Amino acid sequence: MASVSLQALRKSYDGKTDILAGIDLDIAHGEFVVLVGPSGCGKSTLLRMLCGLEEISGGSMLIGDQVVNHLPPAERGIAMVFQSYALYPHMTVYQNMAFGLNVAGKDKAQIRERIERAAATLKIGHLLERLPRELSGGQRQRVAIGRAIVREPRLFLFDEPLSNLDAALRVQTRLEIAKLHRQLDATIVYVTHDQVEAMTLGDKIVVMHEGHIQQAGTPLDLYQQP
Ligand code: ADP
Ligand code: ADP
Repeated sequence: MASVSLQALRKSYDGKTDILAGIDLDIAHGEFVVLVGPSGCGKSTLLRMLCGLEEISGGSMLIGDQVVNHLPPAERGIAMVFQSYALYPHMTVYQNMAFGLNVAGKDKAQIRERIERAAATLKIGHLLERLPRELSGGQRQRVAIGRAIVREPRLFLFDEPLSNLDAALRVQTRLEIAKLHRQLDATIVYVTHDQVEAMTLGDKIVVMHEGHIQQAGTPLDLYQQP
């Protein structure tokens, strides 16, 4: 059974033009799917619909065997990592990572245990009492990833997570994300403009064009296309 299944998924913002015109996509448990395509083809719209920040206009979205079409974001079991980190500026790293778990009503001991485990994995244990403005870009993105991990989501969404980092950090963080994918056996949908990221991270690459899936396959499949 697919972990995520999109069936004839449609989106229109104005009720006239289809921004997504019937997307069919199955994502297996543990699969790393990379979405690529020119600016404006609908990648962000698709991510926002998956995490429930955008209403769907038609078709279906399933996670496991649950239809999530109109499920509130907090009940979907999805965590998203944004290009701009989206950390709460007035909260410490610890508080940023704890926030979603507090809202979900987890107990203090469990929250602490999850944060310490994630912080060790991401090597940010020494930063827990700092504020976001006291961190480098790379450290901020690790915290944003940590905040996603502690929620133990069914699905991770990454929206161009490396584009604000310099070249060296981009490589390092990319390797880190690949390692996390293996360690956590995580199911991931990852949007990028970067071909190297797509080819090195993706189990499957989905090429979008004007609201359609133009091509989908393994990096090798796409590389061997004439
Ligand atoms: P991508 O992430 O691939 O660059 P987007 O999903 O951001 O593409 O945008 C796809 C299309 O939808 C674009 O034509 C964009 O202008 C339009 N669009 C995106 N968000 C909105 C919105 N909130 N309201 C109206 N149109 C939007
Ligand atoms: P309380 O029951 O007082 O709310 P918390 O576990 O929420 O206890 O912790 C309170 C504050 O202590 C947190 O906001 C955080 O800043 C700090 N803190 C708690 N645990 C740790 C930890 N393992 N490492 C660093 N700071 C921590």
